[in-house]
Amino acid sequence: MNYNSTRNNTTVVSASQAIAQGISKEGGLFVPQSLPTYSLDDISVLSKLDYKNKAKKILADFLPDFTEEEISESVEGAYKSEKFGGENPAPISYQKINGKETAILELWHGPTSAFKDMALQILPYLLTKSLKKTQDGKEAVILVATSGDTGKAALEGFKDVNGTKIIVFYPVNGVSPMQKRQMVTQKGSNVSVCAIKGNFDDAQTGVKKIFTDTETVSKLTDNNMLFSSANSINWGRLLPQIVYYFSAYCDMVSDGKIKLGEKINVVVPTGNFGNILASYYAMKMGLPINKFICASNSNNVLTDFIKTGVYNKNRNFFTTISPSMDILVSSNLERLLYDITNGNDVKVAEYMNSLKDNGTYEVDEDIKNRLKDLFYGGSCDDKTTQTTIKKLFRDNKYLCDTHTAVAVNVYEKYVSETNDTTPTVIASTASPYKFAKSVLEAVTADSLPNDEFEMVNYLNEVTGADIPAPLAALKDLQTRFSNTIEVTDMPKFVLDTLGVK
Ligand SMILES: *Cc1c(COP(=O)(O)O)cnc(C)c1O
Repeated sequence: MNYNSTRNNTTVVSASQAIAQGISKEGGLFVPQSLPTYSLDDISVLSKLDYKNKAKKILADFLPDFTEEEISESVEGAYKSEKFGGENPAPISYQKINGKETAILELWHGPTSAFKDMALQILPYLLTKSLKKTQDGKEAVILVATSGDTGKAALEGFKDVNGTKIIVFYPVNGVSPMQKRQMVTQKGSNVSVCAIKGNFDDAQTGVKKIFTDTETVSKLTDNNMLFSSANSINWGRLLPQIVYYFSAYCDMVSDGKIKLGEKINVVVPTGNFGNILASYYAMKMGLPINKFICASNSNNVLTDFIKTGVYNKNRNFFTTISPSMDILVSSNLERLLYDITNGNDVKVAEYMNSLKDNGTYEVDEDIKNRLKDLFYGGSCDDKTTQTTIKKLFRDNKYLCDTHTAVAVNVYEKYVSETNDTTPTVIASTASPYKFAKSVLEAVTADSLPNDEFEMVNYLNEVTGADIPAPLAALKDLQTRFSNTIEVTDMPKFVLDTLGVK
């Protein structure tokens, strides 16, 4: 199986090239030329395997230029039970929502308490092996701009990985206190973290500039290094996410909640469209899915797109209590458009150019209809997010984070509009303790302590929900990184960190 670019079908690369390169030269994203398909019998066989063996089977079908041993080493290294709190890194908690039992797929049991661990724990294995196959001997320098969760998950994934260095930039006032603490205390001999005076977009633009600056790039080449990226457009991040939708379905069958072959709905709190796209690919591979429910916060550009077929990022940007979904350009949507147009690279390139030049594009009538058949889009503001957390806790004694609450609320709206009774799985993307302040405000009217760790303890007192051990441990860790720099100094910071002149 080879991979195409979404903007040029004549670009054909191997799986390891797609992962090593991250993005295609003309700006397109890499997509598999065809998808492996699984019959119900295959899914039944899959359901007898544990999570790691499910992952090995699915990854092998997408990565023909990896040996069985390489895939096994990657999966075993990534999903160690001590890192994910058990043999199944993606367990389900069944909760009554709208009076109906609903599967909450908890994707946040990894080392950084957010679902990005599901992909970023395995990406370093896939990436270093891909670089070995395609760029023998070069050291990879991973540059990341983060609004919080990605930076920490990438640091934790790449720390002390041979042949890699990782540098993370975050906006000085743009991440939560817990997220900042997670990053500035990061351990590892190959990691570096730096705050920039600017917002997330400034950090992202700064990183993109360094990637494409010929002088910096050639200095790296002279030192046998190359830039690489861990962001969510890399195929190596999307692929591992397909696994947990198969896992969830198999678990629901094993738990007697659905019959093999019965369709389910999937609800995903969405930002860059990676997580929900993974469930779409799972459906294309044969997983029985009825509807994809795409949940957004007040940055509801996707809700409007699904309803109208017009994507328009020319609108206000809101800073919300679900910050990992504060995004106006959902990069992975490009892969969906490519699939829905049956691989029409010219059309996709046209849409993406229009987005770049005018901030907007409108898809054709047939694509609109196809989108509406498959997807439901809904959004939820901060106030409703908190009411949802409160209600779920009051009724079920189940505590969820702000992102998951957006999904729960949009699912409730969907059910009340459609009366659809299809069994449903909701992706839960972060531990409530990562967003302790907003969650506390939702469940108690008490006045809150100021200190982040006091808030965490208080949330534990009020709710009794377990505090993830890695978050609790942060309190006693030393701060290692306290740099704050101007955006214009980012290239110099990178070269200094690498010891390159
Ligand atoms: C990244 C993130 C999301 C959004 O996921 P996408 O794959 O970008 O759509 C949702 N919730 C949390 C907690 C996240 O960290």
